[in-house]
Amino acid sequence: MGLVLQHVTKQFGSFVAVDDVTLCIPEQRMFGFLGANGAGKTTTFRMILGLLEPTKGEITWNGERITYKHSHLIGYLPEERGLYPKLKVKEQLIYLGRLRGLRKEEIVKEMRHWLERFKIPQYEHQKVEQLSKGNQQKIQFIAAVLHRPSLLILDEPFSGLDPVNVEMLKEAVIDLQQQGTTIVFSSHRMEHVEQLCEHICIMHKGKPIVHGSMKELKRSFGKKNVIIHGELPFETLTEVPGVLKMEKTVEGVRLQIADEHVSQHILEHIYAKGFIRKFSLEEPSLNDIFIEKVGAAYEQ
Ligand code: ATP
Repeated sequence: MGLVLQHVTKQFGSFVAVDDVTLCIPEQRMFGFLGANGAGKTTTFRMILGLLEPTKGEITWNGERITYKHSHLIGYLPEERGLYPKLKVKEQLIYLGRLRGLRKEEIVKEMRHWLERFKIPQYEHQKVEQLSKGNQQKIQFIAAVLHRPSLLILDEPFSGLDPVNVEMLKEAVIDLQQQGTTIVFSSHRMEHVEQLCEHICIMHKGKPIVHGSMKELKRSFGKKNVIIHGELPFETLTEVPGVLKMEKTVEGVRLQIADEHVSQHILEHIYAKGFIRKFSLEEPSLNDIFIEKVGAAYEQ
């Protein structure tokens, strides 16, 4: 059953921040929310967590409305990082873990496991304010998963992290999903969502303009990309019927085509006109889908 949102709307006065969202987030899967600043992602998360009451609609987790009694099942990494700067890492995690109903020994065991995994065991006795922003974020992630929640909500988990830490956090998130956690996260970075999620929702001005399985979205988008590397007269390729866009890259061009059959005409067009180092037909990227769908929504 998973997480179900039915006609969920949130108004702040007359302003509609989330507008009639109906979504199903399958259990034990990774679900990505994309959208520009102000699209309504954080407001949606706050409603899922019960921190904000929807103006209209209903949210259920495995058939039940989410209330305080579910808090031990849910983990949350908020966008605004909220640790107490003067507390030491261990004290902080014990405090937060106790709020989730864990025993001190369990918390310390779990905390040490994560600190080791994130390669920061030396920070156990340091004050949060003495840690770098990225390391504070890792501590806050630990706080969100200490109690092994079955639903984990991560608001911009990768923002502000260096590439090594992004990889470390991604691996942790994948492991949790493989162990059965349902994970919902938001990001502005397409490639993170593309790599991690089977299901996505693109929000725009409070509305989900695209949602569903990534595979299905890519397939139904229809358009594909052709990547060509080589020394060729690329300019004339825009004349080939079905070539919608051409973008120069360092090694050649990236073409958007109306459907996969166009690639054959492109190949015929460039054949024997120069040196072809690479020619490949690829699925549309999430970025292509985002640009087209959000662009169309802006024009409405
Ligand atoms: P970002 O990517 O910048 O975090 P977001 O998609 O998470 O954006 P939200 O934080 O959900 O967007 O905000 C959606 C809209 O609702 C914004 O226009 C915001 O200003 C507005 N909003 C959010 N909370 C409140 C509030 N408490 N009172 C009034 N307006 C609010």
